[in-house]
Amino acid sequence: MRIAVISDIHANLQALEAVLKDISKQKVEKILCLGDIVGYNANPSECLALVRSKASNIIAGNHDYAIVGKTDITEFNDHAREAVRWTTEKLDISEKKFLSSLPLTMTIDDVFIAHGTPKEPEKWRYMMFVNEIGLNEQFRAFSKQICFVGHTHVPAVYIKKSDGKNFDIFYPDREKTFELDERERYIVNIGSVGQPRDSDNRSCYVVLDKNMKKIFYRRVEYNIKKAAGSILASSMKAEIAEKLASRLFIIL
Ligand code: ZN
Repeated sequence: MRIAVISDIHANLQALEAVLKDISKQKVEKILCLGDIVGYNANPSECLALVRSKASNIIAGNHDYAIVGKTDITEFNDHAREAVRWTTEKLDISEKKFLSSLPLTMTIDDVFIAHGTPKEPEKWRYMMFVNEIGLNEQFRAFSKQICFVGHTHVPAVYIKKSDGKNFDIFYPDREKTFELDERERYIVNIGSVGQPRDSDNRSCYVVLDKNMKKIFYRRVEYNIKKAAGSILASSMKAEIAEKLASRLFIIL
């Protein structure tokens, strides 16, 4: 069985279309979406419609909840806050109702999904701050072998070793395939479709192949110029558009 997992689309239609095209060649049975469908880019409605038509299961991200007032945006950076305001004006009532109805976590086909962290997902913590959030606590918060997360826009696999005590972290920079070991457990950050921040500006998502016991990180080129052009044509700040082409590692 093969499953595609996407996250952090952030209203980037060009990136989403390119990723869905790539997924169509991956022989997957279903697509899971880990949230943040909206925010930052200029096509929230189009992305919402497309994700709803293609993904079998969708959970909420902090930006999705921010649009409907379910997240406190005082901790958002200026650009994120501005994008929330802009997106709130763009979406209609039924779109907002849908975002508001999204759950925070889910278990599907033996995998657990959350937007930020498996433990206290409503706090929108970042997996990259492992010392603060406590890896052991995070692994204790779900019982399945694998938990998929997004939120940081930086791909990484957090591994609980077979001895049940030690941890490891795998960064899929050059090596794009991750082999699963039945004796280990994993929190897999799948990266971002619409605003990668890990110095590779191509869209990122994963395919889980349960029979092969592998996770494939996919990187997909998309029309960055067009996506950036839509942001520039909106009333949102040019810096949000500039971020898309960046090959620098961006923290939040
Ligand atoms: Zn995000």
